[in-house]
Amino acid sequence: MQQQRHAGGVTFTLTRRRVKNLNLRVRADGSVSVSAPASMPVGVIDGFVAQRAGWIARAQDRFARRRAAEAARPLPDKGEALAGMRALCEAWWPCFSGRCPGPMPAVRVCDMHTRWGSCSLRTRTVCFALRLWTMPHAAREYVVVHELCHLLHPDHSPAFWAEVGRLMPDYAARRALLRTGETP
Ligand SMILES: [Zn+2]
Repeated sequence: MQQQRHAGGVTFTLTRRRVKNLNLRVRADGSVSVSAPASMPVGVIDGFVAQRAGWIARAQDRFARRRAAEAARPLPDKGEALAGMRALCEAWWPCFSGRCPGPMPAVRVCDMHTRWGSCSLRTRTVCFALRLWTMPHAAREYVVVHELCHLLHPDHSPAFWAEVGRLMPDYAARRALLRTGETP
C-alpha cells in the first residue's frame, strides 16, 4: 500500500512492507520513497523524514546538478564510442586472457542510464553506457577493468575488489570521476 505524505517540507511516498526498519531513498529523479513496517506509527515515520530534510535536500540538489550536466553534454556518436570502448577492452584483455579461457567477450555500447557498464557471463558480453564515452579516459578504463573483473568474480565480493585493486591500484580516484560527472 502506498501513500503520499509530507513532513518537514519533504514530500515522500510511503510504502508499508514486511521490513524491520525504516528505509529512506532519494531517487535519481529527486523523488523520495520511504518503506516502513506495517506497525510503525506515522508520527514516527514523519519525524524520521523531517529530521533528515537537510540531507534529503542536498541529495536532491546533487541529482538535479547531475541531470543538468548530462543534458548539457550531448551523447557521443555510437560507432565512435563502440570502437573506442572495444580498443580499451583489447588493451586490457591480456591481463585477463591467461585466467579466462576463450576469446575476449563481445563489446557493446547501450543507451543505459542507471549503470556505467554490465557484464553477462551467459552471453559473454560486456556492455558500456553510451555516455561513458563523454567521461575522462581514466574513468572509462576503470569501468573496463571493473566489468572484465566480473569474468573472474561475478559479484562485488571483497575478492572482486581486491582483483580490481591489484590491476588498477588507483581505481578509487578513477571511480570518483564517475560520481562527480565532471570532465576535467
Ligand atoms: Zn560490477
